[in-house]
Amino acid sequence: MLAAVAGVVISVRGTTLSQPTPRLLLTDLTLPGGVAESRASGHAALRALPGLSATQAAEQSLGDFRTIVIPTPTPAPIAALGSAPPTPVLLQLYHDHRVESGDTLSGLAQRYGVSVQSILSSNPDVTDKDTLIVGQVIRVPGADGILYHVRLGDSLSTIAQSFGVTVQAIIDFAPNGISNANDIHNGQLILVPGGKPQAPVTPPPAPSPAAPTSQPSSQPAPRPTPDIPSSGGLCGGRIAGAPSFIWPAHGIITSYCGPSHPHGIDIDQYHTPGAPIVAASAGVVAFAGGDPCCGLGYYVEISHGNGWVTRYGHMMKPPPVHIGQRVSQGQVIGYSGNTGYSTGPHVHFEIRYYGRVMNPLAFLP
Ligand SMILES: [Zn+2]
Repeated sequence: MLAAVAGVVISVRGTTLSQPTPRLLLTDLTLPGGVAESRASGHAALRALPGLSATQAAEQSLGDFRTIVIPTPTPAPIAALGSAPPTPVLLQLYHDHRVESGDTLSGLAQRYGVSVQSILSSNPDVTDKDTLIVGQVIRVPGADGILYHVRLGDSLSTIAQSFGVTVQAIIDFAPNGISNANDIHNGQLILVPGGKPQAPVTPPPAPSPAAPTSQPSSQPAPRPTPDIPSSGGLCGGRIAGAPSFIWPAHGIITSYCGPSHPHGIDIDQYHTPGAPIVAASAGVVAFAGGDPCCGLGYYVEISHGNGWVTRYGHMMKPPPVHIGQRVSQGQVIGYSGNTGYSTGPHVHFEIRYYGRVMNPLAFLP
């Protein structure tokens, strides 16, 4: 893609390739399956730029990339481009950024003008806060907040409540394309601007540094979990009223829920790719599908009612269940695989309570 572009200065993620005039700063944003409207406007910008031939414009719009062209009146020192001011980014739901050498989470956050936490919230499998893997696709929210898949039974007000924002704030974020509060559908991806997971309705036992093992007497004492790393605020502990869960797959745990893997656990399937994955509890399929390219790959999300949701990621093929289907505990909902951002066959498993990440090991038998 880079080789196809000639005759310009290209700044791509801080890497600079220098060629003679015309002098342009060209920044690409990956948009797999992206917003055709925005892409079209990007091309319009190319055509509108004086001094740029149609051929050059066509060359620069090669591939699945949208380009934004910014004339740079004075030659910028190459070293300075690495710390260039934040890229002017059109308002959109998200940007899919393919990691290149030298990228860091904090660098991406700066470049797209969002917080590191906002990026982490949208990338369940980013396992190390500042170590990205070249080629990995990072989904960067279009604004600070949380990207959220609308689930069966959601309303804008329950979503707003879950993330501590107003309904109007969600509607006002234009890329959501929501004209009125009833205008959402199951599976729709929306951005909750400024959203943060809120404390669940039934709070977990209050952490007490002085006496970490003390529990309110009304709570059943949890089983000993000495091997579970401290959750550091993420990965909530057991709370009353949770459904009963069973293991979705057999295998050793290769990632625990915690700061380095903030959304759930990884269950290794290296020796058993294609093994069945079962519903951890009875419920209704809220999502079944996904994209093998990115994120959780093919995945299933099950709503268990009362705010409880489980997710199962990296399935080998499109799941054999469909959105809206009722499933029983133990029913096969997919087969383990390596789709999405995954370095080997495993099941990425999450339990959420009103959107809040819970530690699956606090719930599994
Ligand atoms: Zn994972």
